Parts: sequence; C-alpha cells; structure tokens
Amino acid sequence: MSARILVVDDILPNVKLLEAKLSSEYYDVLTATSGEEALQKVEEDRPDLVLLDVMMPGMDGFEVCKRIKDNPMVAHIPVVMVTALTDAVDKVRGLESGADDFLSKPVNDIALMARVSSLVRLKMTIDEWQARENTASQLGVVDDNKSVMDEPVDHARVLIVEDQNFEADKIAETLHRDNDNVIPVDSGMKAMEYASQHDFDLLIISLNLKKEDGLRLCSHLRSNERTRAVPIIMIATEDDMERIARGLEIGAHDYIMRPVDRNELLARARTQIRRKRFQKRLRDSYENSLEMAVRDGGTGLFNRRYLEVHLQKKLDDSKISGRNVGVLILDIDHFKLVNDTYGHVIGDEVLQEFADRLRDNLRGFDLVARLGGEEFVAILPDVPAERAMIIAERLRCSIADAPVRCRSKDISLEITTSIGGALIEPGDYSVQEVLDRADTALYEAKNGGRNCTVFENFGKLEPEKYKSDARREIE
Ligand code: GH3
Ligand code: MG
Ligand code: MG
Repeated sequence: MSARILVVDDILPNVKLLEAKLSSEYYDVLTATSGEEALQKVEEDRPDLVLLDVMMPGMDGFEVCKRIKDNPMVAHIPVVMVTALTDAVDKVRGLESGADDFLSKPVNDIALMARVSSLVRLKMTIDEWQARENTASQLGVVDDNKSVMDEPVDHARVLIVEDQNFEADKIAETLHRDNDNVIPVDSGMKAMEYASQHDFDLLIISLNLKKEDGLRLCSHLRSNERTRAVPIIMIATEDDMERIARGLEIGAHDYIMRPVDRNELLARARTQIRRKRFQKRLRDSYENSLEMAVRDGGTGLFNRRYLEVHLQKKLDDSKISGRNVGVLILDIDHFKLVNDTYGHVIGDEVLQEFADRLRDNLRGFDLVARLGGEEFVAILPDVPAERAMIIAERLRCSIADAPVRCRSKDISLEITTSIGGALIEPGDYSVQEVLDRADTALYEAKNGGRNCTVFENFGKLEPEKYKSDARREIE
C-alpha cells in the first residue's frame, strides 16, 4: 500500500538511511531536519505516518509529538519515535506524549517495515471512518468534533492470555490502576471461548506459551468476526523479533518486551484502548445517525445524495494527497428485459443480489452507491491505474460468473454488467464532470458488446490481463 512517510532527524545520514529503506519498499518519503520543519510539513503535507527522532537540538521529539497530538487537524497521524535511548522511562514519556510506537536505533528492518505497514493500514481505516463522519456532518446529521485523545482509557475489558501465573498477575495488577476489568486465561482454547462470548477492548497475548503458538491464536482472533476489531498487544522476548514482525503483519497492533515494564505496559494499553474506542465512536455515530438519510431503500447501498458529497470530499482529499481517485459506473445489461420477462419483483431481487456482490467484492475503504435505476457507482480512493482495473474486472466477473438465484420464483438468471471507469487525477473537477467521464466510458462499453469494462484513455480491458487471484486483497 502506498503511503507518505515523513522522516524527521537532525542528522542527515540518518535521514538518508531511513529514506532509502522506505523508498525501496515503495513508500513516498518526505524529510525534515528540525522540529519546526517537521511541524510545518505535517500541517502542509499531511503525511500518513511520522518517524520522529527524539534527540534534536531546539525542539525535541517529545515536544514535536505533543504538538502534533494537540492539534485536532493532524492528531490522527501516527507517530513513531526513533531513538537510541532504550530506557523504559523515555519510552513511556514518548507514549504519554501521544506517540503510537517506539523504534530503537539501529533500526531493525523487519520491525520497521511491519510497524510502518500496520500503522498505515490502521490510519487508512480511521481516515475512511472520519471521512464518512465528515460527510455526515455536512449533511447535518452528526455534529461531533472530538479527537482520539479525548477518549477515556479506564474501565476497559481486557483479556490476558499468559500461562506464566506471576506474569499474568503482574499485568492484571498493573491494569487495575485504570480500573480495568481483567480476565486472565492460560490457553488459546479458553481465550477463544471468552472472546466469543464477551466484547473486549484489548487482548494481551503471550508469544511464549508453552503448549501452543501465540501467533496462531492472534491469527484466529483476527479472523473471528467478534474480535476482528479488538486490538492485540503481544508479549515477547528479544529473540522473538521475527515472530513479532509476523504478528504485526497478521494484524496485531503492538508488542511489549519481557521483562514487562509496568509503566510502558500501561501506556501501550491506554493507546490501544483509546484508539479502539475512537474508532468505535466514529463508526457508531456515523452508523446510527446516518443510515436513514443516505441509504437507498431497495438495496441498502448509499444513495446518490450521499455519493455526491462523499465524492466531492475524495476529490478534495486527492488534491492534498496527490493521489488518483478511481471512479467506476456499472450498469446492468438489458435489465429492461428482465423486468419485461419476469416482472418487477424479480427485477428487484436481481438488484439486491447485484448490490450485495458489489459490496462483497470491494475493499473496506471503497464506497459503492446506487446512482439510480440499475446504475451503480464505486469510488476507489488512492488507487493506482492497474489496481483500479483489476478491481473493476473483479466486480464484472462477480456478476457474470454465477447466475442470480431468485427465491420468489425459484429461477436462475444469467446477469451481466457493463462498466465504465475513469482515473481522476488531482485537480478542480466537479462531481458531475467526474461522473460524466466514467459515463462516457460506460457508453463505449455498451457499444463494445456489453459485459465488459472500458476505462477512459485505456479502452476496453482484456479480461485475461486483469484477472485477480486474490480475494485477500478485498480487506
Ligand atoms: P442496457 O444494456 O443498455 O443498459 O439496457 P437496459 O435494458 O438495462 O437499460 P434501460 O435503461 O433501457 O432500462 C433500464 C430498466 O431498469 C428500466 C426500468 O424499468 C428498470 N428499473 C429501474 N429501476 C428499477 C427498480 O428499482 N426495480 C426494477 N425492478 N426495475 C428498475
Ligand atoms: Mg441504464
Ligand atoms: Mg442497463
């Protein structure tokens, strides 16, 4: 996933080293060599992540971090402190100033990449919910402007999976300082049992369980519907670096090294709890108050009104981020024939199934809406050309490859869709102009034989070239 990372260090060779490592993984890198310059770039360029040196002359990293986190416009940007200090006291100071993580110099490559990609992923999710919430307040439905730092950190429900009793006791005792409701278990089996029955704010999992693999447990918890969004902190030893990296890739949010420092544990737990609650609040307020106003009754998708506000927002964002927005318009082929032959009730069932398939085949931060009739739109923020085409073809195949079963008359219908796509480069375009561009491509797809995808400036796509093998991309 492409993202922009701001590297801040007063020593130029350090900047160059990190820049080289990150560029080789295809991240866009911005640099700053002082606290003041860093703050200015954070405000102006809105990076997706900041790697921040602690020891700098003038304004040090703690102060820079604190100022970022005190500014509601940029507080959601994750900050990773990079430092030669290994003292737990400094780590805690960093975390209390709002840093999302710590990396020690010399920077371990595995830890760096795993950390960066997991924080970037998290940020994209929060951005998406925030964008939806902003859209909601523009529609006048939600009026709420809190930042992540306003979330309470106490009275959390925490599950600890640790088979060394004294360690489990120590962790529980520490978390009791925040009046957390702590449940310790000593096996993965018991963990899964509890997790399937209760809602937790945080899971703390040992990677050193004697009888089983803590990583496997992390992976189970990440794929389980109920625990998917619950943050995980892994507890491990210095020798576990590679497994920690693997854990972060799987989707664990953080780790802490043994021997566990109480203050560091508490600070890391608070960061995760606060973030989880923030995400939940964004999602709840958005979902509760917005549903009725912006959904299409027939399919449950967003309606045109919502789409227009959301698309405008994405176009504005793209001018800041410098990244393209992909826009797809989908129109069912010969749909009139379905209505004429089988009646409107069957037609409506087809529309519902069509909508469900689109939703199932898009990424969490893409948006799909019903434009009207049998026309739909998908908005793909931050998408390179080829990826947009693979997604478009995946959507087309999701319709064409399996007949639609209609329950009311027990029949199966072969349905296809034509798709018009446009990649909107950053610029001053109106929503209507953008939709018109995709619509022109759709018109070509209809003329080109239907059941195909045409992209503006690329023409008709050859299905073989854009086959996607991976449903895993959808997440
Ligand atoms: P093309 O391949 O060129 O898109 O042909 P088409 O028949 O799909 O296109 P046309 O625009 O001629 O017809 C669209 C039909 O969609 C006509 C309209 O009755 C039907 N339709 C629109 N909204 C609904 C709906 O909510 N329910 C049902 N059942 N049909 C709808
Ligand atoms: Mg039509
Ligand atoms: Mg049609």
